[in-house]
This record gives sequence, structure tokens and C-alpha cells, in this order.
Amino acid sequence: MNIKEIILNKEAGKRAFLLGNEAIVRGALEGNISFFAAYPGTPSSEILDTFSAIAKDAGVYVEVSSNEKIAYEAALGASWSGLRSMTSMKHVGLNVAADAFMSTAMNGVKGGFVIVVADDPSMWSSQNEQDTRLFAKLANLPVVEPSSPDEARLFAKELFELSEKFDTAVVLRSTTRLSHMRGEVVFGPLPERTQAGKRASGDFSKNPEKFVNLPLNARILRLESLKRIEKIREEFNHKFNYIEGDKSSKVGVIASGLAYAYVKEALSWLDINDVKILKLGTPFPVPFGLLNEFFNGLERAIIVEELEPVVEEQVKTWAFDKNIKAEIRGKDLVPRYYELSTDRVVTSLAKFFGIKSPVDIERAEFIEKNIEAKIPRRPLVFCPACPHRNVFYVIKKVTGYNGIYPSDIGCYTLGYYPPMKLVDTSTHMGSSIGLAHGISKALEGSASKKPIIATIGDSTFFHAGLPALANAIYNRSNFILFVLDNRTTAMTGHQPHPGTGYSISNNGKEIKIEDIAKAMGADYVEVVDPYDMKATEQALRKALSVNGVSFIVARRECALLYASRVRRSGQKFKRYVIDEEKCTGCKTCILTFGCPAISWNSDKKKAFIQEDLCYGCGSCVSVCPFNAIHEGE
Ligand code: SF4
Ligand code: SF4
Repeated sequence: MNIKEIILNKEAGKRAFLLGNEAIVRGALEGNISFFAAYPGTPSSEILDTFSAIAKDAGVYVEVSSNEKIAYEAALGASWSGLRSMTSMKHVGLNVAADAFMSTAMNGVKGGFVIVVADDPSMWSSQNEQDTRLFAKLANLPVVEPSSPDEARLFAKELFELSEKFDTAVVLRSTTRLSHMRGEVVFGPLPERTQAGKRASGDFSKNPEKFVNLPLNARILRLESLKRIEKIREEFNHKFNYIEGDKSSKVGVIASGLAYAYVKEALSWLDINDVKILKLGTPFPVPFGLLNEFFNGLERAIIVEELEPVVEEQVKTWAFDKNIKAEIRGKDLVPRYYELSTDRVVTSLAKFFGIKSPVDIERAEFIEKNIEAKIPRRPLVFCPACPHRNVFYVIKKVTGYNGIYPSDIGCYTLGYYPPMKLVDTSTHMGSSIGLAHGISKALEGSASKKPIIATIGDSTFFHAGLPALANAIYNRSNFILFVLDNRTTAMTGHQPHPGTGYSISNNGKEIKIEDIAKAMGADYVEVVDPYDMKATEQALRKALSVNGVSFIVARRECALLYASRVRRSGQKFKRYVIDEEKCTGCKTCILTFGCPAISWNSDKKKAFIQEDLCYGCGSCVSVCPFNAIHEGE
């Protein structure tokens, strides 16, 4: 059964084993969602992928927007037209959407509007660690965090009603562990419209006092939003939160979101049952009524939450104002950095309860580091036949390391590792162009003759590269930009973008990247096939002679897309082999090019191509200085 059939199951009470992200989609469908827009980003991407799979059959408009701010605005526009709508993003995506998010947080909604943000504690696939609950608090928007996939489904469903009832956008915060864990989900009923796959139409009624943030209106809206959050705080006394465990205990634990699951497990490891637990699903606003009830008779409490002390600060402020005498612990015992785990929570709780932990976390970390040090390091590399490798190889060949190489967020950040080592900067989406411009201007008049060669992917270019390129051209910058156009958003799972010409509804219109650069007035524009390394080299040499912004699109489909297409069609890849007679064992192919399909035979002291890894791109042919690589039978 495919994911579409599972998610669209009409049977209420049906059980399924879903990813947290899939459960959010099911919940949104049960909540009668009509509109979804997002830009992919791990760990949130499966929400978009699952919506894409069910869009037509569930009557939901689904869009891959070119960045998170645009997705946010599209979904908000749909909400203001009366449709229940949702957007999703990873935590750093909220930085991109922050301007819209902060400005419109006080405007309220018409159709329920849910913003799903997936944080990435421990930065498994992100450039930083940040806590979205702080962002929600800053925007004065309620935020909920589920503790299991089934709760993710339920919360997603109920948030549309909450959003409409209190006239507010709502943030649903997930984390990598919750988004990517599987758990049993019990389905609720699907609305009739969703079952029929009928798309709803909105209706926009003018309401400038509500939707126009001129100071005159904004000052009133701001006060309304502050009042609103207090009403929601009341509501949260009996929604999404509850007290459980030994209610007569003098010792309590407040556990928020996924930390609740770790706390439950940790207490069973420690064999502690006589404790009162406040299970919190709403880190902001914290429900004061429930806190009153929870702290009644309590002498000590610990707050367990992942990353920042969002709940802790609210609880301690409340306790100070109420003159609560109970001792309240939190981030002094629970780590503030990286992902929590049962091991880490057991260690914190053992300290809190003054007992010996069954887990020696310091020793476990010491052993882990020791083992890690003994395992041979496997450097991250581009896939076999990846067109990006060829571009970096050409840049290295032409400039050596005598250049400055700003890069960006995407597969091509792998150019940081040997054998390329051609990524000097990579910090956030679209940063390569802005940084290249800044460096270029800073070096004006200096003795440096180093060329600046920036790299950015096609999807990232549409996401955040366009304004930076316009700025660089306008301000007469001087650098070369390679757009590594592999016809997809590869790193997050091959979602489309405006340059691909395909969309979820299959009626996308292609925007040519090179046309944009020409229209903006780039000083040199060229399109090359990176498999043609001679042409790529010629374009780079030409660009080096140009004063201004040179723009080279290196266009070739992602090797993984190509390989799966060939396999599905039943065709075979071209074969490439290394002629043992001609191979001198110089290792140029391994040490400077680094296709993982090329291996080393230490007995023969010759290189060889592993047939099962090779996608037959033929790029390595021109890399071998001894013409030892050729097409085989
Ligand atoms: S570059 Fe050519 S000669 Fe050198 S190891 Fe590779 S295949 Fe052999
Ligand atoms: S042909 Fe050469 S470069 Fe291409 S995948 Fe095979 S081994 Fe790698």
C-alpha cells in the first residue's frame, strides 16, 4: 500500500504506523485543510512530499514555493480568503519567513492557519540549532509541541479550530526525532469534501483595519493580540495539557513535547512511580490555572524541555509573582544544547532525585568518542556521476587553490571535503552571492588578484539568490557565479522549483535561469553541460577574463534522478573500465577527482571501476592523464 492509500484511508478508528510528519498531514486532512504551501527542508520535507502525493485525491491545493516566506504568504493569503491552510518549514526556514511571520502574527486569520516548524536539535542536517518556541513567543503566537506521532495528528487537526476560535495563527513545533520517528496513529474521520477530493474555493472580503498594518491599525491589532494570548492561556488549562501520575506527591516533573516521552521512560528506568507529572503540549502560553493545581502541595519540581528554557522561564516568573516556595530546577540539570535522549534525561533526573544513575553518561560519551576515533573515517563525497564534481574539478584545475570560493546550502557543500576543498563559506540559503559580492567590494583596490568563484544550486538560486544577484550586478561587483543546475531540489528529496517547469499540479511554467541573469544585466552569461569538461573549462577561462559579474549555468540532471530513470526503464548504464596495461597507478582519478565508483586494488597497485557503483557518465575518461579509462563492453 502506498502512502497515498494509507493517508487517505476513510475508516475512522483505523490504525497505521506513520512518521510524525505523515501523521501531521493526516491530522490536517481530518481538520479539513484546503491549502498547503512549503519549501522543503530536513526535517520537515516529508510533510510537503506527503501532501504532494495526496493533493489531487484529497482536494487540497499543494505548492512547492520558492522559499519559506513565499510559502507562508501564500498560505496566509488562502487563510484570509477563508480556507483552512498550512505551511511547513525547518527551523532555519522560519528565519527566511520571519519578516512576514512577525508582521502578520497580530493580524489574525479567517480560515484556520497552522505554521509547522521542525527544529533540528543536534543539527543532524542543519547549519545551526535554534528553538522555534522562542520565535513563537516573540511573535506572541501560541505554540504546541506534540510528544508522539498520534499526538501530532490530533494537534494538527485541532489547531485549525483553535486558530479560528481565537482568530490567530498557531505554530506546531516538531523536532527531528518526532518528525522522523514512526508510531501508531489512530485515524479520526475525514471530512466529506476531502473524501470526495473536491477542492474548496475561498472568498476574500475586504477588511483593511485587520489586514493593513499601517501604524493606525497595527497599534490596535497589537493590543488585541496581547489580550488574545491571555484567553488562549485560559483555554490551555483544559486543552493539550494535563496532570498525571501521583497527584499527592510532593515532587513533580514538568515535561514539554517529546521530552515527555523521555521522562516517562527515564522514570521507569529509575523505578520512580510516586511523582506528579505536568504533561505540557503548549510551551507558550503556559497555562497558569494548571500550574496552580500542579504546584499545590509540591515541594520540588524539575522542568524537562529540549533546547532553550522557554517553559522554565515562564514557570519561574509565574512562581516568583505567586510567591510559590517550591524549589524549581531546570536547565541547571537538563542540558541546553543538542538533542535530549532517555540517557541524558535519566542522568538529569537521577541528579534531581539524588540517586545513582543507572547510566554513566560521561563514561558512555568517553567510550563513544574512543570508538569513533578507531573507526576509519569515510569522507562525505559527491555521488557517482554527480555533475557538481565535474564543476569543482574544473575550478580546481583552472585556479588551483588560488581563488576565493563562497558556496551555499545544498549538495554542493560537499565540495568542502577532499578531494575538492573548494568551499570557503557556506552559512545560509543564498549566502554565496551576497558574500561573494561583499568580498569582491572589500578587495577592490587591494593587491589580491585572487578570483572569486561562487557556487549555488538551482533551487537555492530561486530561493534566495535572486535579490542578491540583482544587488551584485547593480553595484558592479566582480566575481564568477556557477549555478549548479541539477534540475531539482536534490538534498531534501528531489522536489521541483521554478527552473524545472514541473509542479505538483503538473502545469508549471519553466523559468530559465540564464534568462534571469541576462535580464538583470550580468556581464557574461553561459550555459554548459558539466559532463563536457572542456566546454566548462573554456567558459570558466572566458569568465576569468571578464570584469563584472559572470554567470555560468552548469546544467545536468542529478545523477540519482538519472540512475533511477535508467533502472526503471530497464536499460543498462554505459560501462567504463580501466585498462590495467595503461594504468600507471598514479591515483589522479582517486585523489583529485574522487568518484566513489573508482577504487584501488592494493595488490595490483592499479585503479579499477566498481561496475555496481558506476552510472556510466564517462567523466573520469578525461581525468586520467594516461588515457587508461575508456568505455567498455
Ligand atoms: S588516473 Fe589513470 S593512470 Fe592514474 S590511477 Fe587512475 S586510471 Fe590509473
Ligand atoms: S563513468 Fe567514471 S566518473 Fe562516471 S560514474 Fe563511472 S566511474 Fe564515476
